[in-house]
Amino acid sequence: MFGGGIPFEHFAHGGGGMPGGGRGGGSSEPPETTKLYETLEVEKTSTQKEIKKAYFKLSKIHHPDKGGDEHKFKEINAAYEILSDPEKREKYDKYGLEGVNDGHNYGGGEAEDLFSMFFGGGGRRRSAGPRKSPSLQHAIKVSLEDLYNGKTVKLAINRKVIVGDVKSCDSCGGQGIKLEVRQLGPGMITQVQRQCPDCGGQGNTAKTKSERKVLEVHVEKGMAHNEKITFRGMADELPNMEPGDIHFIIQQKEHDLFRRKGADLLVTKDVSLNQALTGFSWKIKHLDGRDIMIKTKPGQIIQCETTDSESGRTLPFIMMVKDEGMPSQGNPFVKGNMYIAFHVKFPTTLDANVISTLRSLLPDADIEEEYDPEQVEEHFLDEAELKHFGKGGAAVSSNEYDSDDEGGGPQPVQCQQS
Ligand SMILES: [Zn+2]
Repeated sequence: MFGGGIPFEHFAHGGGGMPGGGRGGGSSEPPETTKLYETLEVEKTSTQKEIKKAYFKLSKIHHPDKGGDEHKFKEINAAYEILSDPEKREKYDKYGLEGVNDGHNYGGGEAEDLFSMFFGGGGRRRSAGPRKSPSLQHAIKVSLEDLYNGKTVKLAINRKVIVGDVKSCDSCGGQGIKLEVRQLGPGMITQVQRQCPDCGGQGNTAKTKSERKVLEVHVEKGMAHNEKITFRGMADELPNMEPGDIHFIIQQKEHDLFRRKGADLLVTKDVSLNQALTGFSWKIKHLDGRDIMIKTKPGQIIQCETTDSESGRTLPFIMMVKDEGMPSQGNPFVKGNMYIAFHVKFPTTLDANVISTLRSLLPDADIEEEYDPEQVEEHFLDEAELKHFGKGGAAVSSNEYDSDDEGGGPQPVQCQQS
């Protein structure tokens, strides 16, 4: 076992998952629920007051009249409109943008669906074709074995489909908007345009039904964590809109034995000092079920961990089995490598006869120095920790530092000499 061993920080595939992706079971999880908070640069736990403050700050910085980016400004407004409303915020926290995407026109300006506002994806180019209904994202958890071997997963979804004809909305006469007269003061009235609540601004209504559909999701060999598998046009049907897409986002499960980065695998191995010096063979089950035997070459020695002088981190001794990593995506016949990070376990004590045998067998035995114990003091070693270095000697009370403040700080503690 490695206490904060290195390679993992470099090696980790970012198993944290999708932004905000929960770690619950099941094959589909709610979509992300952090983007709006990131947009306002607040924490998920922020209070309404903090959110308001962040909003005022950001909307000043990004206001288009002051040279800010208009899209960014819209995002900030939309995020605030949702997060400042406790009910909408709760929905968003539970269901993501799906939960609040009720056709309401967020962020001012033209209606733009929330997904394309925050995640791009063609939504901003409305003139280039019919609008699309919101796309959906589902996380699918996939084991490393399945990513190694490839797999087809059948997933059932429920989608809304339109039944019968699309009719013009009676409530707004197909305009999608309604005019309202408001009295501002005595003799002053104004007309306000509002999105039609009956058709959600579409100008059309249609009957829909829920349809169950089984999708075959092909997880290809070597697919990466967070990779997207897209089913075009499989999101809900909405009147006069092209159905959006369904995206399945691969979420690689953690593996008991292997860590993965790209096509490479990493496995950790504890060996005894004896194995480190004299060699070993180690059988492991690979991700495709093969048993493989990993062996040292004759004379090969597993070295100790070292410490990186700059970071102070422990660096395990690393070896590699070539071409036993993951299949490369798109080219499964080319595989990555399997890295092995070693930890050598030293014995804590040895019997006297073992010691003398080892001493006679191993190179560079200690040369016993001749001395007269009457003339030379003998000392035996105690265990110690480097963090205590500098703290030896008699304890100095803190009062003395305060009163004796000539040097501007504590005086160096002397190492005790005996
Ligand atoms: Zn209407």
